[in-house]
Amino acid sequence: MKDLRACRKCGKITTELKCPDPDCGGDTTLDWDGYIYIINPNDSTLAKNIGKNKEGEYAIKTR
Ligand SMILES: [Zn+2]
Repeated sequence: MKDLRACRKCGKITTELKCPDPDCGGDTTLDWDGYIYIINPNDSTLAKNIGKNKEGEYAIKTR
C-alpha cells in the first residue's frame, strides 16, 4: 500500500506530492490526522463545518 498524503491547503487525500485539485495545487504532507469522505457536500453539515465544498476524501487536520 502506498503512503497517503494530504494537501496542506484543502486537506484532500492523495498519493501525489501536489494537490490533484486544479483549483488548489497546494503541497501535500504525510503528517495528517482524521479521515473524512464527503459524498454530497451541499447536503453535509460536516462538510460545511470543516469548510469543504467538494466531493472526495479529505484529512481533518494537517500539520
Ligand atoms: Zn489542495
